[in-house]
This record gives sequence, C-alpha cells and structure tokens, in this order.
Amino acid sequence: MVSIKMFDVAPYEIDAIENWAAEHQVKVDYEREPLTLDNIESVKGYDGLSLSHNGPFDHEIYRILESYGIKQIAQRSAGFDMYDLEAAKAHHLIITTVPSYSPSSIAEYAVTGALYFVRQFPLIKQRMTKHNFVWDAPLISRPVKDLTVAIIGVGRIGSISAQLFSNFGCKVVGYDIEPKPELDDVVEFKATLEEAIAEADIVSLHVPGNKDTYHMFDEATFKQLKEGVIFVNCARGMVVETQGLLDALNSGKVSGAVIDTYENEAQYFRRDFSNQTVEDDTLLELIEREDVLASPHIAFFTHEAVKNLAEGGLNSTMEVLETGDAQSRVN
Ligand code: NAD
Repeated sequence: MVSIKMFDVAPYEIDAIENWAAEHQVKVDYEREPLTLDNIESVKGYDGLSLSHNGPFDHEIYRILESYGIKQIAQRSAGFDMYDLEAAKAHHLIITTVPSYSPSSIAEYAVTGALYFVRQFPLIKQRMTKHNFVWDAPLISRPVKDLTVAIIGVGRIGSISAQLFSNFGCKVVGYDIEPKPELDDVVEFKATLEEAIAEADIVSLHVPGNKDTYHMFDEATFKQLKEGVIFVNCARGMVVETQGLLDALNSGKVSGAVIDTYENEAQYFRRDFSNQTVEDDTLLELIEREDVLASPHIAFFTHEAVKNLAEGGLNSTMEVLETGDAQSRVN
C-alpha cells in the first residue's frame, strides 16, 4: 500500500484527510508539527510527503529527503515562496502546490472587507458602544453602486471579485499583465497600474507575490490614489510597503484598509501569541488602528477551501508517485 506522510496538519483538516485515505486505499499518517531537521527521520519509509509549510525552509532537508528516496513535496497552499525551487530540483524533488482551492472564498472576503469600510461599520460600532445614537455627517455612506473599483491582477480571485463588485452595480476597472478579453463585459481594462487606480474609490489587490510585484504599492503608488480610497490586500504581504500604507492612512489618502496579508507575517500568522509579546511594532499598529481591518491570512478559510487543500496535496502526491510529474508542479 502506498504511504504518505503529512506535516502541519491542523485538527480541522483531519476529516478530509481520513475520508480521502479510505477512498483511495492509501496509508496516510499526519503530524501537527512542521517538518524540521529534528523530526525528519519520521519520513523514512514513506513514499510521499505533503506539507503546509510557512516561513523559511532549511536546505539540508532537501538533501535528507532525497537520501530517503522521497521524490516530491506537495505543498498545501497556492504560494511556494518558502521553497528554494532550484535547491529542491538539485535533489530531484518535485514541488507541487494547490494553485486554486476556493477562489470565491478569497474574493468574498475582499469584497466584504471593502464594504465594511464603505458602510462605516467601524464608526457605527464605536458610536453604538458609546451609546451615541446621533445621525451626523461622518456616518453618511456612499452607495456601493456608485463606486469605482480597481482590481489589480484579474486572475482566478480577481475576476470573481470583479464580478461581485459589478453585481453591486460598481464600475470595475482592472489592470493585468495578461490580456483578458473574456472579462471585457465586467472589467474595463487599463494599460497601466496608474490609470487603473487614478479614479478608484476601492483598490483590491489580487496579483501574485514575486519580484515584479514586490512593493508594487509603495509611497509613490499610494500618492497616486484618490483621496479617501479603501484599500484591500488579500493577495501577498510583499506587494505592499507597509510604512507607505501607514503614511497613506495617516494622510487620509487611504480611509480604510483590509490587510489579510502582511510582509513580515511568517513569524506570527497561524500562531497563538495571546500569552506572548508581539514585538513587531508595525504589525501592532495595523492591529490597533480603527481604520485597518487586519487578519492573519485567513481570507481563504472556509470549509470548501480546507477540504480542497487537503485533497489537493494528497492528489498531487499520488500524481507524482504514479506518473513522475504533476500538473501543479512549480519547479
Ligand atoms: P492567478 O494567477 O489566477 O491571478 C493573478 C493575476 O495577476 C493573473 O491574471 C496575472 O496575469 C496577474 N499578474 C501577475 N503579475 C502581475 C503584475 N506584475 N501586474 C499586474 N497583474 C499581474 O492567482 P489567484 O489564484 O487569483 O491568486 C491571486 C493572489 O491571491 C495571489 O497573491 C495569492 O497568493 C493570493 N491568495 C491569497 C489567499 C488568502 O487567503 N489571503 C489565498 C489564496 C491566494
């Protein structure tokens, strides 16, 4: 019987994993912990490996996995920036990902987060908490249908976000490096990022994190926005220079920000720090500000996504074991 070892398995994934194992007649063992040099020996004897790794990855691990006869690492996320693809390849390890597991979940989160600020929910909550029931100018909202939304990166998630905003009656403009003529009914495409953001009331980022998108939104980009924009980053932390965002919030350029990903998140997100000190002052500022809705990279987190991620990692593992290759291979 084929055997697969999984690491980084959270309790909420176990039902999906056990159902998959029974259905496919594969032995699957799993651990809560990440794979490290301390526990790597437990991989010995298994055919396949699936991780949901977060943060840096020790190169020595690639070498040891190869020596155990492991041929692949099936990462259970869309992102793969935690791996050195060439180093893995040098040790004959195929890295696969789950490129899409519930794009609508992330799009829904981005849209819901933007509307939270459009309809002044933070201020309403603050006023109600103070028993101040007055109707006055700061509480007046713009109707969602009158807003222009810029979608930056109109791929799987961006296109669903565009459709959802369009369903509210918004004008949707987009910027993407690839032409997307099939979306012309929903999105008015602009040739440059500057043109796309120039008239936007809401800017929502859906580009991948890579060297071209690194700090795509920095001090200079924020200066080009309209006054009072609502800004959403449910893409990758590295796309936004956080100090530039904080300056834009302080100056009023950005009136509200939904920050689901943060450039220095690896050390904190997915961990419980309620009894420890968070030493990152920038993260603390994001969390504490009324005009920021910060969350721990959780936009995807629905039952559908959890099931698709667990099954996606196991299916890719089997694909490599059975064919020597995989559609979701990234190296
Ligand atoms: P995708 O590949 O389907 O779409 C990305 C789009 O961005 C593509 O259309 C691509 O052409 C475009 N693009 C790439 N580089 C660009 C550039 N420099 N300028 C403009 N456009 C560019 O990806 P997706 O599945 O829609 O994912 C989008 C983002 O969402 C990724 O950053 C991903 O990591 C992130 N994500 C976040 C969560 C979460 O929970 N917050 C979960 C999954 C994915």
